[in-house]
Amino acid sequence: MMDPMPDVRIPETRPEEAELLLRLRQFVALRWVAVACILVSVAAAQTIFKVRIALMPVLATSAAVAFCNLTFWLWVRSPARSNRHGRVFAHAQIITDLLGLTVLLHFTGGIENPFFLFYFLHIGLGIILLEPPDIHRVTALAIGLFVALVGAEYAGWLPHLALGGFLPGELYRQPAYVVAVLVAFATTLSLVSVVATRMAAEVQRRREEQTQAKARELEQAHQHLDELDRMRTFFLALASHDLKTPLAVAVNYIQTIVDGYAGEVDPKQRRWLERSVVRLQEMLQLINDFLDVSQLDEARIARELVPTCLATLVQPVIAEMAPRAREKQVQLQTDIPPDLSWVLGSPKRLHQLLVNLLDNGLKFTPQGGRVTLTLAEEDDCVRVDVTDTGTGIPASYLPHIFEDYFRVRRQEFIPGAGLGLSTARRIVEAHGGKIWVESPYRPDQTGSRFTFCLQKASVKNGDHD
Ligand code: ADP
Repeated sequence: MMDPMPDVRIPETRPEEAELLLRLRQFVALRWVAVACILVSVAAAQTIFKVRIALMPVLATSAAVAFCNLTFWLWVRSPARSNRHGRVFAHAQIITDLLGLTVLLHFTGGIENPFFLFYFLHIGLGIILLEPPDIHRVTALAIGLFVALVGAEYAGWLPHLALGGFLPGELYRQPAYVVAVLVAFATTLSLVSVVATRMAAEVQRRREEQTQAKARELEQAHQHLDELDRMRTFFLALASHDLKTPLAVAVNYIQTIVDGYAGEVDPKQRRWLERSVVRLQEMLQLINDFLDVSQLDEARIARELVPTCLATLVQPVIAEMAPRAREKQVQLQTDIPPDLSWVLGSPKRLHQLLVNLLDNGLKFTPQGGRVTLTLAEEDDCVRVDVTDTGTGIPASYLPHIFEDYFRVRRQEFIPGAGLGLSTARRIVEAHGGKIWVESPYRPDQTGSRFTFCLQKASVKNGDHD
């Protein structure tokens, strides 16, 4: 008995969640660059431009941002994370960034630091990550934080840490300057947020329209294919009736004449009539092959799979082929181990498959030869070999042998449509198996061996009634 499979649930990731996760990863990487840029800019401002900056608070804020980013980095890499929390995580990142920027601005001159324009960058990133109502909320938060910072410094609730040596350091108390900057900042940021979200919504709408148009096209193509399929079925019914029936009737009439029911037939006439019967029967077989291959529906076969006992299924096939083997004086053997596992298969199609392979074996094996059907138990499948001691297949033909309408050129005419092996391949593939050929199957042997494997069903011979 096999242990039952543990119930492992793999969380589904929707395309938009996957995309969000990718962006979040990119933003985490970008934040490392941002922290590095802050440190470099501070060093450059102090050493090159001789600007006096409150170094320790700036470094502490950068360290706090780096620490948050480390947490974000661990989250995006964690295999146990839930992708459904991606949106919450995106909010956390943007809010952290806005808070970090506001604190940094406070320690580096507040309203006098031109880098307050970095709020625009964060709103841009928010537009990429968030849905429109959230973007507006984040925009309001950015405006609120900056206004609060500037207002608190203006009112003296927070100390103003000027960029010493860079600007006079009095601008933050000039009402006209403060109001002008805040109004310009708030209106521009709001406009950016509104216009960009509208544009994003428009792009999204167009994309959805295109997707719907594609879906409609696919639906039409599907309907067209259904129509073709109906026509094919109709044609097959027609072909089967209008071609096969008159041929079968003609064969019966000629056979009646050959058998002497319509009067005396001299030996010469009998010979010609018998040849006609053989050729007409070949033609009937050809039509049957065409009908068979065009009716072969792999999806339908896959739905027909049931636990099947190959050992039992083989018997009527051998009984069917035995007269031909006797007629050709070819030995027809089977090698079936007892207690063989059952397979998952379509009995009707497996019957057809074995007939095709044995028929070929008998067709290409001369008098005195041997055709053997062997069943064998493998680890995860049941293996079926059809081996013959016949003419074999030239090596250059082997790669194409399972293709539709492929036939090996031989000196003598042997009737066939080149569909027997392609039908066999389709049947095996519909069973989820593989079929292959070796010719010669041993260096010291003539002939060919066709092999296919079928998946085991969880039943053994004798387990089943
Ligand atoms: P057909 O119906 O024409 O026999 P198949 O698809 O069954 O078509 O076979 C394709 C070709 O493969 C045939 O033309 C035949 O020459 C070759 N072939 C198939 N089985 C054997 C075999 N057991 N031994 C030798 N040749 C074979």
